[in-house]
Amino acid sequence: MGIESENIPLPFRQGQGEGTIREDFPILGKNIYKKYPLVYLDNAATTQKPRCVVDAMTDEYYNENANVHRGVHFLSQQATDLYEASREKVREFLNARSTREIVFTRGTTESINLVASCYGEAFMHEGDEVIVSEMEHHSNIVSWQLLQARKGIRLRVIPITDEGELRLDVYEKLFSEKTRIVSITHVSNVLGTVNPMKEIVRIAHEHNVPVLVDGAQSAPHFAVDVQDLDCDFFAFSGHKIYGPTGIGVLYGKEAWLDRIPPYMGGGEMIQNVSFEKTTFNELPYKFEAGTPDYVAATGLTKALDYVLSIGMDTIEAYEQDLTQYAIRRLSEIEGMHIFGPRETHDAVVSFLVHQPGIPEKDTAFKHYIHHLDMGTLLDRLGIAVRTGHHCAEPLMHRLGIEGTVRVSFALYNTREEVDTLVAAIDRVRKMF
Ligand code: PLP
Repeated sequence: MGIESENIPLPFRQGQGEGTIREDFPILGKNIYKKYPLVYLDNAATTQKPRCVVDAMTDEYYNENANVHRGVHFLSQQATDLYEASREKVREFLNARSTREIVFTRGTTESINLVASCYGEAFMHEGDEVIVSEMEHHSNIVSWQLLQARKGIRLRVIPITDEGELRLDVYEKLFSEKTRIVSITHVSNVLGTVNPMKEIVRIAHEHNVPVLVDGAQSAPHFAVDVQDLDCDFFAFSGHKIYGPTGIGVLYGKEAWLDRIPPYMGGGEMIQNVSFEKTTFNELPYKFEAGTPDYVAATGLTKALDYVLSIGMDTIEAYEQDLTQYAIRRLSEIEGMHIFGPRETHDAVVSFLVHQPGIPEKDTAFKHYIHHLDMGTLLDRLGIAVRTGHHCAEPLMHRLGIEGTVRVSFALYNTREEVDTLVAAIDRVRKMF
């Protein structure tokens, strides 16, 4: 992380034929309120889709559609091949050892719920503990709370520093003989903090405790190597990495996936069924009950092909440069408060702006322009940002605020868009 470079011109394709990367995303050419070109800065919520993803899915529905793993007929076999090719693409993307370790889910949320439910069922009992952190998305809190209600487990929470980094000194002290799993986000969807995941995993493994990594905000922005991280589970969503909605991934080390029970029952996840006894299918099918979203899997293949053809390191360098540029430019605005660390910062910037005319800058954020007002007015200026608690209410409590304005970048965003954003915020500020 922390790569500084001179405005790498990523949205302008190099050596890949005509056009720009922005032209691959038709929606970016759209005018909002029939007046302004769209500046889309809500990529942490979901990214826009390149033409190749939508085209491949349309083509599959028109020309290749059939259910997977079920038919001996041509179309079904072809659909199955496409689906399994997608699994192989995800394996390559994460550098997993085997496709047996790649489970398709509906997204990060379902992947985390799967682990909480199935790992929790097999290995956690009353009084056992899961370590999470203060900067988790609700999906990595509530999934464990459901288990808490069911089995009486406890959540232990790693606090953060005022700069928005994990207190690793406290983390080490949270382990006890009751600790059964650590479940931490790779990158905060609010603060942009990039957590030192290798270190987090190393410490957990010293205590013989497995680690689930919430990769919703890391997989789209830099290369993830699950073998290098040595994490036990890794979750991400297709729609946050230029793929379709409705598909996500759970990577799990084979040794763990083998030992935990299935998530849902139904077709495909079984070997033999009788009223007396049912045996389950081999990995990863044991976790894929029912008809999967195989067309979305094809879309995900195309999305991963797309980012891999550009190169994750190129994407990381470009977005890092853009994020640092945004932090610099936003900091020039009077009354600007940016949350999160400066250095280990991914493509997310959360902020609030102090109201002009009120002399004292208060630490309780009482006299800041409300995030909703800022977001609504920016929208009228053609800029899509996210406002609110970003599904991280406990983090908002820690920061002593109700919400922030959040901008989040993708590979198609530009410095010009950041300049437009800065000018628009200044304009909104002057309205107050
Ligand atoms: N974890 C983090 C850090 C996120 O940012 C999000 C979504 O914003 C999720 C989990 C949930 O992802 P999904 O809604 O795609 O399941």
